[in-house]
Amino acid sequence: MPISSGLNSEIIRVGIVLPEDKIQQITISWSTELELESNVPDITTAQSISLLVEHDGIGLKNFPNTSNQSTLTLSCPDQVESLSTKYGFHIDSVVAGRGFHWEKRIEVDLPGRLEISIQDGFLKIINFVDVEAYVACVATSEMGSEAPSDLLAAQTIVARCWSLALAEAKHLAHGYDVCNDDCCQRYQGTSFLTEHSLKAAIETRGEVLVYDDKVIDARYSKNCGGMVEAYDTVWEGGKVPYLIPLWDGPIQKPGHAVDDFDTHYAYDEAYCSSKRFENVNLGGMLGKVDVSGSYYRWEQVMAKVGILKNLKKYTGLTWSSIDDIRIMERGPSARIKYLFLVGTDENGASVEQVVKSEYGIRQMFSDSFLYSSAFVIHNADTLKDDDHVVLKGVGWGHGVGLCQMGALGMALEHIGYKEILRHYYPGTRLAQLS
Ligand SMILES: [Zn+2]
Ligand SMILES: [Zn+2]
Repeated sequence: MPISSGLNSEIIRVGIVLPEDKIQQITISWSTELELESNVPDITTAQSISLLVEHDGIGLKNFPNTSNQSTLTLSCPDQVESLSTKYGFHIDSVVAGRGFHWEKRIEVDLPGRLEISIQDGFLKIINFVDVEAYVACVATSEMGSEAPSDLLAAQTIVARCWSLALAEAKHLAHGYDVCNDDCCQRYQGTSFLTEHSLKAAIETRGEVLVYDDKVIDARYSKNCGGMVEAYDTVWEGGKVPYLIPLWDGPIQKPGHAVDDFDTHYAYDEAYCSSKRFENVNLGGMLGKVDVSGSYYRWEQVMAKVGILKNLKKYTGLTWSSIDDIRIMERGPSARIKYLFLVGTDENGASVEQVVKSEYGIRQMFSDSFLYSSAFVIHNADTLKDDDHVVLKGVGWGHGVGLCQMGALGMALEHIGYKEILRHYYPGTRLAQLS
């Protein structure tokens, strides 16, 4: 049976510069060879424009005789065959890792159409791009240029499924389908595109994973920590038959990480285990922005005052101390579903507060965003008197679906992309879009 894509068109709308980034001035440049069209024809003879927010619209700094625009569009071809590294519109300052510990400004090169407008006094740039071009770019933005081809093929198919299923629909109310960032899928346009990744996109064009003849909601994260997590540990809406817990290794052992954290912590046979990457150039394989530590096993120290500050920030509560942390429920990979903070309020009364969800927990126990919610309190016995909390944890990200480092580990062992996908999404099959 032919599979329908689910999207209304083959164009996906990607939010690149968002009002929350509070950018009021930006420069966009392009090469002379680019076949460029714009609603402001003067621009097409130039090689760059500097835009700034003015009271009556977008001002074009290097075109003083052009009136300010409420919306500016720039477009260039975006068929996947027309792409190459750094092809498209170059923007030198786009936020990557919004709100995460690795937030930074990066350069991007974007194919397709840019629609630039002003919202709440700040610039908003949406990139309308062909889905196949988008997934080719996502695969390299999520991976490094030296990634093995089976990893790229797997990542490309997963990115395509995720984009087409659009199950999260986080940004539709703001006029775009996905953002450019880790919140959705990391997309840096053609900046790091390689022949290799382009080849993966072209060779797997239209290839998707299906379950019950529907494109699957292909979740993925950086490092599961040894066991892939169940969908319903992290998100509402019940179980998803192909996003289930499994050991991320060659052998499916009985039991779960949650049964015995210390044994799990010692487990180093996983495809995503640091042990497999000792002689591997991870930077070249996993992308440029996130190779700063070991994500399979980690330890983080958080001052209690930091947690009190987060408690105030996210719940409005003012406490004077944290006395205990009670972990209430974990998913199979040991990711905590909810916990109780126990403390003393400003009147000296004993109080407790629930911290719900994997996301909420990662926010609460870090100044930016904790690697994962799969941790134990290492200093639990002395916590009441300590001025800090020592977290001993595993994995990076929500851990559901494909584990990117695990998929890398598998590809390095010459396991093909079809088998990689079968491992992470059991019960699904590969199909061709109609
Ligand atoms: Zn997003
Ligand atoms: Zn893994």
